[in-house]
Amino acid sequence: MSPHKEPQMPESLMKDPNEIRDVVICGGGTAGWMAAALFAVHMPGARVRLIESEEIGTIGVGESTIPPFLGLIANLGINEQDFIQKTQASFKLGIRFENWLTRRHSYFHPFGQIGAAIEGNDFYHCWLKARLEGHDSALQDFAPASVMAAEGRFMLPQKAPRTPIASANYALHVDAKLVAQYLRSHAEKFGAIRTEGLIETVNQAPNGNVRSLVLKSGEEISGDLFVDCTGFRALLIGKTLGVEYESWADQLLCNRAVVCQTENVGEPAPYTLAQAQDYGWRWRIPLQHRSGNGYVFCKDYISDDEATATLLSQVEGKVVAGPMIVPFTTGIRKQVWSKNVLSLGLASGFIEPLESTAIHLVYRTLDFFFRYFPDKSFNPALQADFNRRIYNDYDEIKDFIILHYCVTQRDDTEFWRRVKSDPIPDSLRAKLDVFRASGALRETGPEELFRQPSWYSVLEGMGVRPYRYNFLTDRLDSAQLHHLLNEVKPQLQSFVQTLPALSDFLRTYCPADPMTSSTAHFAAE
Ligand SMILES: Cc1cc2nc3c(=O)[nH]c(=O)nc-3n(C[C@H](O)[C@H](O)[C@H](O)COP(=O)(O)OP(=O)(O)OC[C@H]3O[C@@H](n4cnc5c(N)ncnc54)[C@H](O)[C@@H]3O)c2cc1C
Repeated sequence: MSPHKEPQMPESLMKDPNEIRDVVICGGGTAGWMAAALFAVHMPGARVRLIESEEIGTIGVGESTIPPFLGLIANLGINEQDFIQKTQASFKLGIRFENWLTRRHSYFHPFGQIGAAIEGNDFYHCWLKARLEGHDSALQDFAPASVMAAEGRFMLPQKAPRTPIASANYALHVDAKLVAQYLRSHAEKFGAIRTEGLIETVNQAPNGNVRSLVLKSGEEISGDLFVDCTGFRALLIGKTLGVEYESWADQLLCNRAVVCQTENVGEPAPYTLAQAQDYGWRWRIPLQHRSGNGYVFCKDYISDDEATATLLSQVEGKVVAGPMIVPFTTGIRKQVWSKNVLSLGLASGFIEPLESTAIHLVYRTLDFFFRYFPDKSFNPALQADFNRRIYNDYDEIKDFIILHYCVTQRDDTEFWRRVKSDPIPDSLRAKLDVFRASGALRETGPEELFRQPSWYSVLEGMGVRPYRYNFLTDRLDSAQLHHLLNEVKPQLQSFVQTLPALSDFLRTYCPADPMTSSTAHFAAE
């Protein structure tokens, strides 16, 4: 990838009058600037413009990511270390779930692998066989990311090849506002143009395509492709084109969040905390300079004031921004791409952030859009297949999130009694049935986001085990299997003890840039 923007339009683009050359991105939150950066970097011949309104601001949440986010950073040619320093980011090895199965129970969903196949047998089944034969290890004893997280230690797995942590993976906790700023400067370096202004009118062509936008200043901006990143407002995809929103509110009960930012107390932990509450769950996302916090809840059972009081009574550290209430409806646009409008981020859909998937879905949607890249005819066959593909991604994530709730043993509040008795999607029911019967994981597609280690972690964490392990595992000699597990577990433990504490690693490898200190405020403040 060339580090500099080509001033000339490539010949191929100049030759094809139907080629998209003018991309207009509405909204400058995380989604908008991710889009601007990707379009500017990958379409050097196109004009990429982004319009955002400081009057409205950005939502300012969305700070826990998953490993593919680092793929985005690399895809944009950004140096990861520099990005971490300038966004006050910290490392995330997974999510610690507290009080989900029962009160006072916890489990960890790590990034990366859990153990390694033994003589071609899936590690999970080997471990299960050993467990049933009396071995007293936990599944997560063999997940390098879980062991590092439990010890508060960190090392980049790629810097430790051929060690017991080589198969771990990681993501970042980031400051949402600083990420937008960073991506903005990167996009601008590649020629993206930012216009400050409030979009007041959207003009459509006779075929329904968006033709131009008129700003409060009177300026009119036209384009070939419009990318709707206007957040929950969904100005183009919803208000203008009238694409309906498919609500999944009956499948996931939470519909509001109260959020606040706090000063750090102690050193940041290398994981996101997701702690179940009486009527939802609370998150804590530690960055280098502060922590993000929120309580995701269902308004049928608890008022905004009560949820706010609960959150404020549980956060550690002085509150530096918020509290702010964020209402949401879980679901997805029936067409994420319609006519000449591609919607991204909150404009396209939202699933509660229990597995930190929203920013990933922005990248995923853009990645797929580039694979299906249209010309100005906006071929409906492309759109239909693209929309089907993105819908499947949302659907897969929704099932995985429902799993965290539906198998709970909690029945201490009306909320928990309801989540465990409500019907679950057929696809999840089938997955659970197959798993319980055989330990096999029914795949929903070739490019699933959540792979076997994720499902095993949450299923085991929530007390769901198959009735039997796979019979092929019986080819392994039990004594040898136990011996191997007895060797591997302490090897990993003692290796992790040699690693630096997360805070020491941050200080030496990527200390936060003092020039980018605080962004402690929300849009509504
Ligand atoms: C409670 C909560 C917690 C979340 N936690 C996570 C998480 O941990 N991990 C994760 O991956 N995701 C999370 N998300 C999702 C994440 O916040 C979003 O996916 C991400 O921030 C993208 O938001 P956005 O850019 O779509 O919207 P916004 O940040 O709301 O940006 C909208 C933009 O549109 C502009 N705009 C709107 N209307 C107009 C107009 N008329 N004229 C001009 N400009 C306009 C605004 O000014 C703004 O720039 C969370 C979301 C919520 C609600």
